Amino acid sequence: MVTLKFGGTSMGSAARIFDSARIMRWRAKEDRVSIIVSAVAGVSNMLLASIESCARGEDGANFARQIERVHSDIARELEGLCAAFKADVVLATMQIHLSEYARLLDAVRVVGECPASVYARVMGTGELLSCALVEALLCAQGADVLFVDARSCIFTTGRCDEGDPDYQKTSAALAQYADGACSTRVLLFPGFICNWQGTGAGLLGRNGSDFSAAIIAYALDASRVEFWTDVDGIYTADPRIVRDAILVDEMSYEEAMELSFFGSKVLHPKTLAPLAQKNIEAWSLNSFNQSAKGTRIAALQKPDSQRHAVCGISCLKGTAMVSVSGAGMKGRSGTALRIFAAVSQGGISVLLITQSSSEYTISFCVKQEFAAQVVALLEQEFELEIREKLVNPVEVEQNCAIVSIVGDGMKQVRGVAATFFDALASSDINVLAIAQGSSERSISAVIAGENGDTAVRISHRFFFNTAQTIELFIFGTGAIGGCLIEQIRAQQKELAAQKIDIQVLALARSKKMLLSADGISLDSWKDTLESSAQETSLERVLEFVAQAKPLNPVFVDCTASDALSAHYPRILQAGMHIATPNKRANSMGMDYYKQLRSMANKMRRRFLYETNVGAGLPIIDTLQNLFKSGDKLMSFAGIMSGSLSYIFGRLDEGAAFSQAVREARQKQFTEPDPRDDLSGADVARKALIIAREAGFSLEFEDVRITKALPPDFDDTGSVDAFLENLPRADNYFAERMTRLKQEGKTLRMGATIENGVCSVGMIEVDFRHPLYGVKDGENAFVFTTARYNPIPLCVRGYGAGAQVTAAGVFGDILRTVSWNLEA
Ligand code: ADP
Ligand code: ASP
Ligand code: MG
Repeated sequence: MVTLKFGGTSMGSAARIFDSARIMRWRAKEDRVSIIVSAVAGVSNMLLASIESCARGEDGANFARQIERVHSDIARELEGLCAAFKADVVLATMQIHLSEYARLLDAVRVVGECPASVYARVMGTGELLSCALVEALLCAQGADVLFVDARSCIFTTGRCDEGDPDYQKTSAALAQYADGACSTRVLLFPGFICNWQGTGAGLLGRNGSDFSAAIIAYALDASRVEFWTDVDGIYTADPRIVRDAILVDEMSYEEAMELSFFGSKVLHPKTLAPLAQKNIEAWSLNSFNQSAKGTRIAALQKPDSQRHAVCGISCLKGTAMVSVSGAGMKGRSGTALRIFAAVSQGGISVLLITQSSSEYTISFCVKQEFAAQVVALLEQEFELEIREKLVNPVEVEQNCAIVSIVGDGMKQVRGVAATFFDALASSDINVLAIAQGSSERSISAVIAGENGDTAVRISHRFFFNTAQTIELFIFGTGAIGGCLIEQIRAQQKELAAQKIDIQVLALARSKKMLLSADGISLDSWKDTLESSAQETSLERVLEFVAQAKPLNPVFVDCTASDALSAHYPRILQAGMHIATPNKRANSMGMDYYKQLRSMANKMRRRFLYETNVGAGLPIIDTLQNLFKSGDKLMSFAGIMSGSLSYIFGRLDEGAAFSQAVREARQKQFTEPDPRDDLSGADVARKALIIAREAGFSLEFEDVRITKALPPDFDDTGSVDAFLENLPRADNYFAERMTRLKQEGKTLRMGATIENGVCSVGMIEVDFRHPLYGVKDGENAFVFTTARYNPIPLCVRGYGAGAQVTAAGVFGDILRTVSWNLEA
């Protein structure tokens, strides 16, 4: 006897049922099979919604019609797939269940509430209906099938909706179907439903068909159980949460038990115990992909060290943590007993317990829906002590998640707990309580519910060494933004091989935006963006991040916008890093400058702007490292504009000033209006940023700027008028250059920082000065510091251009992935 269980997804449509039936018949060729089926996907939830709506006094007819339509549609389609399948006959059988369902719903509506036994009957309708479909299909295909109503053979006690099986009675009832007693090849059971305390109705808890299969396998002494579902087996974490979760080949009963107990939806938590007891091997298999090997769950003999210390990570959401504390609890025996006796009076199960070593506090978790009841029970139990202030009022932390790491191997391996808590800390997740199973097979942390998915993802990365993610939100797709996107596209594969999974989740230009949780394909991003109907909205991006909680989101500002720069604190506060070539934010007021840094610190996010000065040249990072390690800036001189470097280089070579400017403009080194360069304003912003890095508290107005023009030159009027007028400056520069040449000097337009004063203007440098030979558009930065003295630290190279700037931003983006995966 082999037991097969088909979940809701394997019953999800006519085609799915047809495929599942093929697996059933194939398995029945080799062995006798007992088959357990769930309701059609979504039907149990629909039934639940109908109960809730009728209990509010609403009419249930709509629901009844919807449920009927789902099943009749499937029946009609099955007729198309298998001519011998007679839809009308099946529909007549189903009608019995449907009218009973409608009758019960009406009763709920009239009474305004739904007692447990009615709840069980309504919820069980889904499995009865799916069974009718499967039975008819198997019969039509010529299989030897017997339908066995689980309400006649699985007996439970305890709670009506989540009963505990009476194995003895159940085994006795099922004995007639065991090998030897019965020869029918295929026994078909509805999952989920049972007979609670002889009432003829009852349930095994949500997701309970897994448990049904285990109970039946136990009673029939099956040699193995196969759980057919919609994933290839059991993964190291829920693949819907962790994209690169790893399929586990095999795990022990205990590991699977622990994982499912702590929220892994893949199997109902009570499923493993009866199987382990009779050593019945279990397999998790994919009905959508029969060639996948699946996961084997069995009593494993292998030494633990040969397997991973941690085999899986799970998350149980929707829990509440209750704490009982007070001076009167210290050293008192029997307090714990009283607490848990009171809780068990309500039939409520406790998920996890921790006690502080001072015996001052006992905390435990229960399902969220029982929190209020637990508080009431405890306040009643400790009424006297609370009044006497020996015990504090009971505290509840609502909406918690329990994140657990599970693995038989962890007791042999050091540092597992440390890795777990490191992972949580790295994502700034606060741990409310910790519990370790006494078997050292699991460690659980109670955290705020909203952090549940993030905790699973980050822990998974720490334990399974899977790729670090970078989720990019790029605003601005002009020259630099466009180059950056191309560079990322070209490098995506290479980075993936280095375990860095870089995805662009948002792309925005002035009016249009793309936003995709799964990442935007960069192959034809321009066209996709062009055809997007979504308007650019920072708010939408912030909402998305708040809700989807990506692990390592980086906001990339490739615009030249002042308005966007003003939102940086909010972007950091939303949990994103910022990488930007945009200088605006760093050259606004000093208060804003400080606010940005303190927000980044508070959020443990990085504000990266290496390309604010010198484009891709390593300036900012170099300075930060110097000053952090205790160096001090004595003086600075720099040429920080490609156009001014070119213009003054040409003067050197004997060109007239007006000609040099015209050439630079033709080569597109200057802004369209060359006065924007000659004014020195842009250089002043960069100089200000360097001065601030060096620790000077300066405002933009403090920078002394002198234009790169003769002192009394009239530079007003249109661009054309200005260019027309420019030869009038030629003499001034020619004379000055001649004089300087005689002194062994030349003229440069640059910035200096001396004695805390930051200036921008023309400087005369002699042939020994590092800036003397800097021309042709090259940039140069000369730092004289306490350590680099008298020979200064110099950085030279192209300090502008879309390619090098984009590469600098790319470098900043990669700085957000923080640790080395090879360890
Ligand atoms: P069924 O209807 O077959 O019972 P479920 O939806 O109840 O299927 O369970 C299968 C789902 O469990 C998978 O689709 C997957 O998203 C989820 N799941 C959660 N944790 C895991 C895990 N560790 N490994 C595999 N699947 C998991
Ligand atoms: N149909 C039931 C539920 O959705 C039982 C199951 O599918 O396991 O909870
Ligand atoms: Mg399930």
